[in-house]
Amino acid sequence: MSKKQDKFSTDWESSVQSNYGLPSITLVRGKGSIAIDSDGQKYVDLLSGIATNILGHAHPSIVKAIRKQVGVLGHVSNFYMHPGVIELAQKLQSLVGDESARTFFCNSGAEANEAALKLSRLTGRTGIVATQGAFHGRTMGALAMTGQPSKRELFLPLVPSVTHVRYGSLSAMKRAITRKTAMVIVEPILGEAGVVVPPSGYLSGIREMCTHSGALMVVDAVQTGMGRTGQWFGFEHEGFVPDVITLAKGIGGGLPLGAMIALGGASQLFQPGDHGSTFGGNPIACASALAVIKVLEKDDVLIKVQSDEIFLKNSLSQIVGVKEVRGRGLLLGVVLQSTIAMEIRTELQSAGYLVNAPTGNILRIAPALNIKRAYLEKFVQDFEAIMNRVDHG
Ligand SMILES: *Cc1c(COP(=O)(O)O)cnc(C)c1O
Repeated sequence: MSKKQDKFSTDWESSVQSNYGLPSITLVRGKGSIAIDSDGQKYVDLLSGIATNILGHAHPSIVKAIRKQVGVLGHVSNFYMHPGVIELAQKLQSLVGDESARTFFCNSGAEANEAALKLSRLTGRTGIVATQGAFHGRTMGALAMTGQPSKRELFLPLVPSVTHVRYGSLSAMKRAITRKTAMVIVEPILGEAGVVVPPSGYLSGIREMCTHSGALMVVDAVQTGMGRTGQWFGFEHEGFVPDVITLAKGIGGGLPLGAMIALGGASQLFQPGDHGSTFGGNPIACASALAVIKVLEKDDVLIKVQSDEIFLKNSLSQIVGVKEVRGRGLLLGVVLQSTIAMEIRTELQSAGYLVNAPTGNILRIAPALNIKRAYLEKFVQDFEAIMNRVDHG
């Protein structure tokens, strides 16, 4: 470790809480898909702030939009409107393709899911069905819905009446949904649990059950949304409309922004005074989001994402020690044959690539959606060289 990084580590430990553990590098700047650490080492950023910097670092359109907005109006309370919040809500409505869509803005994924949870209480019901392995955030309500016992155990009791069923199983879902179910929350692809894709028909099957029982269907598209999967929200291939869509991560292009979009009857549940967020819909965050959507549309980025998926799946799946490449668009899980994902992650970092290992045998790849193909090609080569070198146990 360099002297500089050593100092960062010591200072971090003496001033920052331990909940993230001690990171091994300090990033100080970035440009496009390249991130640079405090020693000047360059990395191809294949994680993009966990699916957040969807146009990479310091994208000129985002920088321009933010600069302009901060010089005009940096923040207003929700006592007042501002044009950006309306424009962004209209844009989301058109992307969802449903005029009944109404958006509540907040600052994070957990908050978007909290908002959905509160909305569901206004149906007069309290039951929630969520899935095992799912990640919905760390605040108490979102944590109650998160299906990972290790993250929950220390913080019991949480919001009651949440049932977790096996992800991907419609029969388990059917047994759990009753007339008391206020909402079912589901990720189109499990992100944090290692990029798990459900069987086809799973999401539309849940839609039918929710319609039948009167429960709200909430799609947590916090990770899969904003073009990440080659579709805007990650569920369109199943051809249905949910009652609620939650977004965060990519929508702000690196700024903190979350959204809870409700459709149809659900869009009318919140009444004045029922919910709020001081920073929600902040003009700078909205300006950034509008710039993001504009670039994604203008440059046909979703089409590019679909072809990157094919390239990466085809090339990575042929590498020795890779069992399977799953996921959709640029949210991919490289499943290794043995539990060496942490070791490979470290090797890749030394070779100049940022990825993460959500579980012992899975590497997650979630780069900026506009990443240059040349970076992906070089990554495949370097990853292959590392895989050929290591012991696969
Ligand atoms: C990251 C994530 C969240 C939580 O978002 P935060 O902004 O960290 O609160 C919720 N749901 C999904 C699917 C996520 O990937």
